[in-house]
Amino acid sequence: MTTVFNAASLVREELKGLLPYQAPYYPSVLKLDANENPYPFPQAVMKEIYRETASAGFSRYPDPMAVELRESLAAYTGVNPENIMVGNGSDELILDLMLTFGTGAKFVVASPSFVMYGIQGQIASSTRLDVPRRSDFRLDVAAMQKAAAEPEVKLVVICTPNNPTGTATPRQEIEAILASTGALVVVDEAYGEFGGESCIPLLSRYPNLIILKTFSKAFGLAGLRVGYLLAGASIINELLRVKQPFNLNAFSQIAARVVMKNLDPFRERIGTILKERDRLHAELSAVPGVETFPTEANFILFRTALPAAQVYQGLLERGVLVRNVDSPSLPRCLRVSVGKPEENTTFLAGMREIL
Ligand code: PMP
Repeated sequence: MTTVFNAASLVREELKGLLPYQAPYYPSVLKLDANENPYPFPQAVMKEIYRETASAGFSRYPDPMAVELRESLAAYTGVNPENIMVGNGSDELILDLMLTFGTGAKFVVASPSFVMYGIQGQIASSTRLDVPRRSDFRLDVAAMQKAAAEPEVKLVVICTPNNPTGTATPRQEIEAILASTGALVVVDEAYGEFGGESCIPLLSRYPNLIILKTFSKAFGLAGLRVGYLLAGASIINELLRVKQPFNLNAFSQIAARVVMKNLDPFRERIGTILKERDRLHAELSAVPGVETFPTEANFILFRTALPAAQVYQGLLERGVLVRNVDSPSLPRCLRVSVGKPEENTTFLAGMREIL
């Protein structure tokens, strides 16, 4: 007789609301679902990465403090290396933030926003307080200030441009929240290279400001998982308590550093993506039964007259993968990443057929 071992009976209570992460695998689909950079990585930069990694060797653990990468990031951001921490994608840094400051406390999110805040918060047993954005998805600054003033709130999250709405928040509005709370304010600028105002100039004035950025979008390194965080040294010292010693592998540290030395081809791609985004936005807006929302990022949120699941499935049958973000706050909404021109054309043709 075999007994079935049931791990579910041992799992932490707080995790029971989380679904195991098991993404479907679509080997040959047109991927417009994850806001990645659609262009091939610049050949010359790739060659430089291979040259540098070939001579590095990987028998030693990576530099735990990523000293050289942080120096490159200091040159790029204008922020001192001691105010920079790198992560295995910004996803890891979000978890570190929740584990360091959030457990047993509350965090505020200007919702709807990036789902990982909710997930990492749940893993860390932190309680989420949603402050709904206005109907145009701009921040409700007064409501954010009120929520941020609650004594149990340790973190306030504002994503700009926001995923999945594409909305950028003016720096002045973020400053009004920073100035009115003793909580830490996390400004996620994952899409900052595409638009919106950066809050980096506020770092020297607000010791409670934390900025998150990533190589996964504008810099085409989603597969190598490189994110970074900018904050006062005292915040970083606390985060180092939970940081995994070798969180960012040696290959990724080198690759990100090489990218920082070769910004021109990436700037050129960003320009192309923005032009193509505007074309996609105009043509998608003209499809009957589609309502688009303004965007400052490399993706577009849109609402359809048909149920979102039907549109998602219809596109998938035509080989196009988008993100279904349908929810009570975003009814009948989907999100499409800006791809290469021919990819966007395929997506638009599918939309015209389905609607
Ligand atoms: N923040 C936002 C707003 C995002 O949309 C994403 C990626 N979807 C991330 C952070 C995570 O990026 P990374 O690949 O660096 O983990």
